[in-house]
Amino acid sequence: MASQEIETLAGALARLPGLGPRSARRAVLWLVKRRESALNQLVEALTAVQETLVECETCGNVDTRNPCAICADPRRDARALCVVEDVADLWALDRAKLFTGRYHVLGGRLSALEGVRPEDLTIDRLIARVAEGGIDEVVLAMNATLEGQTTAHYIAERLENYPIRITQLAHGLPVGGELDYLDEGTLAQALRARRPVG
Ligand SMILES: [Zn+2]
Repeated sequence: MASQEIETLAGALARLPGLGPRSARRAVLWLVKRRESALNQLVEALTAVQETLVECETCGNVDTRNPCAICADPRRDARALCVVEDVADLWALDRAKLFTGRYHVLGGRLSALEGVRPEDLTIDRLIARVAEGGIDEVVLAMNATLEGQTTAHYIAERLENYPIRITQLAHGLPVGGELDYLDEGTLAQALRARRPVG
């Protein structure tokens, strides 16, 4: 193909999830042909995010400010907390626009196989948030995988002595389903029909 710079760009894009080398080259070509309308805009957007990217110390969301836009939004219901495995799950749920509370990102799920222990996740920080008070409901929105459900049960046990309602997404979720891949309707349904744990 073309110059080293263009090859480098194609190589970087090819590492993005969902893009292979072929799609990456097509994207590069598309951008190069639209220097003013698309390439410059992309460069500016990437630079802006790169310069301001930060992890929210409250919930673990990734945003350009800390606390993140969700934690800082006074219209959000501070009494409801939705616990998710990853930032991608938070974004998927938030796109569905049905949950009006705030979130807590665990940073993964318990896994004996991969050696992920409770202390590797932000579970202690979650317990601390609940212990501070002011929260009525914790929604456990783990993926419908064995590890996701093991994680949900573990957290439910750790929270059982607090005066809160603990619910989980309804199992309209496909088994093995990852939240991020669900369409918004399915996600909304699972959230609406959430039920108490245990
Ligand atoms: Zn936050």
